[in-house]
Amino acid sequence: MSESVIHVVGGGLAGSEAAFQLAERGHQVVLHEMRGVRGTAAHQTDRLAELVCSNTFKSTEVTNAHGLLKAEMRLLGSLVLQGADVARVAAGSALAVDRDVFSVHVHERVVNHPRIRVTREEVTAIPDAPTIIATGPLTSDALAEGVRARLGVQSLAFYDAIAPIIAVESIDQTVAFRAARWGKETMEDSGQGKGAECGDGEGEGGLPSPEPEGAYLNCPMDKVQYEAFIDALTLADQFTAHEFDKAPYFEGCMPVEEMARRGRESLRFGPMKPIGLRDPRTGRRPWAVVQLRREDRAGRMWNIVGCQTRLRIPEQQRVFRMVPGLEGAEFLRFGSIHRNTYLNAPAALTPHLSLRDNPQVMFAGQLTGVEGYTESTATGLLAAINLSRLLAGQEPVVPPPVTMLGALYRYLREADPAHFQPMNANFGLLEELPEPPRDKLKKRALYAERSLAAMAAWITEHRLA
Ligand SMILES: Cc1cc2nc3c(=O)[nH]c(=O)nc-3n(C[C@H](O)[C@H](O)[C@H](O)COP(=O)(O)OP(=O)(O)OC[C@H]3O[C@@H](n4cnc5c(N)ncnc54)[C@H](O)[C@@H]3O)c2cc1C
Repeated sequence: MSESVIHVVGGGLAGSEAAFQLAERGHQVVLHEMRGVRGTAAHQTDRLAELVCSNTFKSTEVTNAHGLLKAEMRLLGSLVLQGADVARVAAGSALAVDRDVFSVHVHERVVNHPRIRVTREEVTAIPDAPTIIATGPLTSDALAEGVRARLGVQSLAFYDAIAPIIAVESIDQTVAFRAARWGKETMEDSGQGKGAECGDGEGEGGLPSPEPEGAYLNCPMDKVQYEAFIDALTLADQFTAHEFDKAPYFEGCMPVEEMARRGRESLRFGPMKPIGLRDPRTGRRPWAVVQLRREDRAGRMWNIVGCQTRLRIPEQQRVFRMVPGLEGAEFLRFGSIHRNTYLNAPAALTPHLSLRDNPQVMFAGQLTGVEGYTESTATGLLAAINLSRLLAGQEPVVPPPVTMLGALYRYLREADPAHFQPMNANFGLLEELPEPPRDKLKKRALYAERSLAAMAAWITEHRLA
């Protein structure tokens, strides 16, 4: 690779956006895409920016987290969103697209750009030249090995095993009580085991950390409630995965419904065991306890411990709302288990998502630990802005955490590396409003107003548009 050009590895959503943004800023770019010489288990074509599954970029409403992120990206001039607008099909307030029209549009804009050269090859090691690596959830094995060799074994996961994440204000804290087992514990003490290759967040990755008292919210169950929960869990409809997507069930990432099927008591002796806990309302040990662990520093997002799941989304809502204290649960992120190569960003990368020893080698897209088409594209856009700045001798910049993009980056920077899980855009990531109204829609409208004003000010301050 020549040092006079910038390399972008991976011509998916993030890589196409990044290559185009760099070229528009006057840089010569080589985009390395392996499809054409080596396929992935999900892509069907050789085109850049192929959508591997659903044809929607989700909501356009700014009172929806994905809609707000898109509005911020429009201020930054996203190519992918321009392609989505060209390819838009009727779907109410959702930005759904004709996937072929969409990828043809983005493909053409990238390959026909006078400063971009596309080469079809598999990259197998992290280059030392200025580079953005955006090889996605299906990064080839050889490059994954190259990344592991460079960043360390614990820096990379191959499967998501995600438990639902709940908004704190939707948890009934007259029922759920704050306490850690025996007052204090580590994840190892709690016996939840370690996931081998699963980014399961429940004691994964060999990085157990002490949990201070109050780091857990505990939803107590009596025997009748527990039995009803087990019945619902084992009978609920679950998502059937693609063959390649079938995660091996390591100890730490077994779906909660699978654990329940292996024996009615297995959850009561596993992640839902009540020992070391007393319900302050009764003074007694409950029959079983569903624990929620803080997902962010501000304590706005809570992860249902040990409940990684393959249940369908409506079933997750129905079953987990049976848990006392979670009847009104607002899901910020649904549980899932699937193939996903991603970095432990808070452990391995800088705040602008570069190598620690080379700020000009950056990561973007789903590989960084964000999840979703829009989120992945957004990180490609910001990586291009920052690489261009660095090459001009300027500092990298990240939008403030009152913006959705800035809040995602803050999550990637500040999440606990011991429990790191990929994240999608959601309002729980944003800094709380000083005086939030009770009405959810009004609150979101205020969040959006604040985010878009902050993004516009940030763009002006750094002369990004
Ligand atoms: C099966 C599946 C279904 C999904 N469904 C959805 C969905 O419905 N909605 C949603 O929002 N998100 C979905 N996702 C997540 C989705 O993949 C991401 O949101 C998005 O595509 C990530 O963008 P990206 O640019 O990071 O990666 P990608 O779009 O996957 O692009 C990565 C590119 O890098 C290339 N590449 C990989 N390794 C190398 C290498 N060594 N050298 C050169 N090129 C390489 C790949 O061929 C690919 O073109 C799904 C993911 C999977 C795996």
